[in-house]
Amino acid sequence: MSIFDLTGRVAVVTGANTGIGQGIALALAAAGADIAAVGRTPAEETCEKVKALGRKCLLVKADLSSTAPVEGVVDQVVNELGGLHILVNNAGIIRRADAVEFTEEDWDAVVDTNLKVVFFLAQAAGRHMIAHAEKTGERGKIINIASMLSFQGGIRVPSYTASKSGVAGLTKLLACEWASKLVNVNAIAPGYIATNNTAALQADETRNRQILERIPEGRWGAPEDIGGAAVFLASGAADYVQGQILAVDGGWLAR
Ligand code: NDP
Repeated sequence: MSIFDLTGRVAVVTGANTGIGQGIALALAAAGADIAAVGRTPAEETCEKVKALGRKCLLVKADLSSTAPVEGVVDQVVNELGGLHILVNNAGIIRRADAVEFTEEDWDAVVDTNLKVVFFLAQAAGRHMIAHAEKTGERGKIINIASMLSFQGGIRVPSYTASKSGVAGLTKLLACEWASKLVNVNAIAPGYIATNNTAALQADETRNRQILERIPEGRWGAPEDIGGAAVFLASGAADYVQGQILAVDGGWLAR
């Protein structure tokens, strides 16, 4: 059996209908996990592909712009899939404007989705994982999707940078609190990944060239690149990895 085998594990992936979330859901399923695809747009295509890999897939409709659905999501997944062993907090949004003009609405929308709900979903899943680990000795795994802007400032994205820096700090705090309770908490910081989120940048010839020149790999990342890192962190191979923010960025931050 592979050290990355996830057979018998149930993984919640938020924002699994597209982009990085879809890449992560498919990679975890390929490693053997059953998937709960959680989001406001039903992840039907993702679930079809998960099922084609021979795994179960549960569609869970939830708008994660507020904490309202969080407890219900965890209860539904545990009841319908028989457990919750892996949480990937992937759903996220970005709003762009100069700092001098940035609105409170754009601040709250981004920080609520990218940071507040990430914490409270981790809390609800973490409570379940800690209780499960006490009974069975089986570990829980929480993976938060951070960003290069967990490490760098960026421009015109103040609430995004604040939220993703917050995700990095929160990841370390939860790892410190929960490591002794057999829950691993880590984050992945994607570099420039080709998704709907970055379509405008890819389409802008000048910006696209500047980005590619700056990335040592010389290419955009793919959702599958993030999926591979998620499988590692979700697996037994990463049981001694705690509180890390793993950059998967083609070398961007190394430059
Ligand atoms: P996409 O815009 O392609 O996907 C974002 C996902 O989040 C979608 O599934 C979206 O659902 C979901 N989502 C957003 N708001 C909510 C909400 N209120 N409730 C439920 N689901 C919601 O982005 P990416 O795949 O590129 O990004 C995924 C994650 O990776 C984000 O956290 C992003 O910040 C992070 N990231 C991405 C990078 C990149 O280069 N692409 C770089 C660094 C980090 P819906 O389709 O319904 O809107």
